[in-house]
Amino acid sequence: MATLLDSRPLDRVADFPAIPAGWAYLDTAATAQKPQAVIDAITRGYDTTYATVHRGVYQRSADMTLAYEAARKRVARFMGAASADEVVFVRGATEGINLVADSWGGSQLKAGDRILLSQLEHHSNIVPWQLLRDRTGIEIDVAPLTADGRIDLDAADAMLTERHKLVALAHVSNVLGSVLDAKRAAAMAHRVGAKLLLDGCQAVPRMAVDVAALDCDFYVFSAHKLYGPTGFGVLWAKGEILDAMPPWQGGGAMIDRVTFARTTYAPPPARFEAGTPHIVGALGLHAAIDYVDAIGLDAIHAHETALVKLSRERLGAINSVRLFGPEDSAGIVSFAVEGVHPHDIGTILDEEQVAIRAGHHCAQPLMDALGVPATARASFGVHNSAADVEALARGVERVTRIFG
Ligand code: PMP
Repeated sequence: MATLLDSRPLDRVADFPAIPAGWAYLDTAATAQKPQAVIDAITRGYDTTYATVHRGVYQRSADMTLAYEAARKRVARFMGAASADEVVFVRGATEGINLVADSWGGSQLKAGDRILLSQLEHHSNIVPWQLLRDRTGIEIDVAPLTADGRIDLDAADAMLTERHKLVALAHVSNVLGSVLDAKRAAAMAHRVGAKLLLDGCQAVPRMAVDVAALDCDFYVFSAHKLYGPTGFGVLWAKGEILDAMPPWQGGGAMIDRVTFARTTYAPPPARFEAGTPHIVGALGLHAAIDYVDAIGLDAIHAHETALVKLSRERLGAINSVRLFGPEDSAGIVSFAVEGVHPHDIGTILDEEQVAIRAGHHCAQPLMDALGVPATARASFGVHNSAADVEALARGVERVTRIFG
């Protein structure tokens, strides 16, 4: 029987004012609750230090610019970027992928070029490429999954050709929690001259990520899944790739010189940050990174992996429960109860003070591959404990009793 003895419980629930005693919040993969340190950083950003960035000639604005750019440096250090100039602030992973598709894809790819995705991608790593396909005539290939729900890299390797210019994959699946062997994916992509984009939404809150060690070319994530604010996120790309990318959105802050005859553009990252940014979002992300780093991503990973192991044992022992995904999933467990719609599971669990997600998780092609319309999904964060897993298992047992 797995216990949490092999990982030290993090005991962090007191850091989260929005998690009342007895409420098992198991929906961190959708969005993480916020620790007080992040709430404080956001509040401070607005209540005593607020001003615009990059433009002000007064001290308050200069200070806020320093704080905003300090967040960029913190992100760079957090993810092993060679320079803060490689860190583009965006609204979230969705915007980051759309930016890459429109700017890099729109300028580099042409009819007949191919890109490789996988069967388990989030819609935000599918639809932007389909929109690009409609505009340019590129073709999209889809790597299948292994029986236990990982991207099948042997199959992917066999599919790659010199015509492939990009491989874009989830670093961690938001439905199955399966962890990609990203280094291998990078080597495979580079062997045929393709770039590798990693969707790191579910990886950055759950494991240490170092883009230099992974040797990927693009990496995106959303701050709100990393205990930070919504409406903020990161696109990282290798410096020489960003340098060669044309502007995406036009407006203030992304220019060098504007005349009606001709406009020249700022170097990255400013070139890709048109308009007044989500200033306080950067401060919130900075605090969120400090928060997870103080705990340690390795400790978080061990903690969540242990919770997954325990959940799979407890749920797997219940007749009529079907578990999806691999045993060593990073912090996420998808499951079904025979004859019960996942929404009913979610509703009954809510009565038991257990919050899970039920649905297709913005991964309909994965649902098709699993042969289900939806799954129930429990996902863990630093505040969860074995007691939350017990509450989940008791709730699912009640579901099976109700539906007989
Ligand atoms: N990719 C993955 C793997 C995700 O889990 C999510 C969020 N569910 C996204 C992309 C999109 O993130 P956002 O909605 O924050 O842009």
